[in-house]
Amino acid sequence: MILPFDEITGEARRYTISDSDWFYHGKEDFLLTATANISISKRDSEIVLLKGKLEGQRVVACDRCGEQVRKKIHCEFVYLVSTRKEQAFELRDIECSDEDAITLYLKEPEIDVDEILREQAYLAFPLRNLCSEDCKGICAGCGVVLNNEACCCSLDKSSSAFAVLKKLTNS
Ligand SMILES: [Zn+2]
Ligand SMILES: [Zn+2]
Repeated sequence: MILPFDEITGEARRYTISDSDWFYHGKEDFLLTATANISISKRDSEIVLLKGKLEGQRVVACDRCGEQVRKKIHCEFVYLVSTRKEQAFELRDIECSDEDAITLYLKEPEIDVDEILREQAYLAFPLRNLCSEDCKGICAGCGVVLNNEACCCSLDKSSSAFAVLKKLTNS
């Protein structure tokens, strides 16, 4: 959704975006559901206040075993969007003093809401994605997912690097 800056007024307008077309959908990373609630109003001729909330469910591959897992997304955000060119943008000038507000300078006089949602979605994602804290991952030897299957190469422990190392230290 693109909102022309000039069409935004002092009266807050609310939008509900219930699709997730704005998200980059990969094969193993996509949004199952996503609902964004946004309120936009002009503070003065050059500054727009954008408040929003994003909730949804994301499907992502576990970092260790690669299995798909569902993760919840929840975030709230406040942006001050400005068309001012100079960097002398003073937050003190603005009545609303949300300390966590993100200031965004526009190159064109239009607000790309999709871009803001993408940024927020990525900020809300954890750095690590695990199906469970004690995920055993994939065996480097035979490639089985150790959560589901017993490792095939455990039958031949003597040939593993670890076993060789053990032999060396014992001798
Ligand atoms: Zn896992
Ligand atoms: Zn194995």
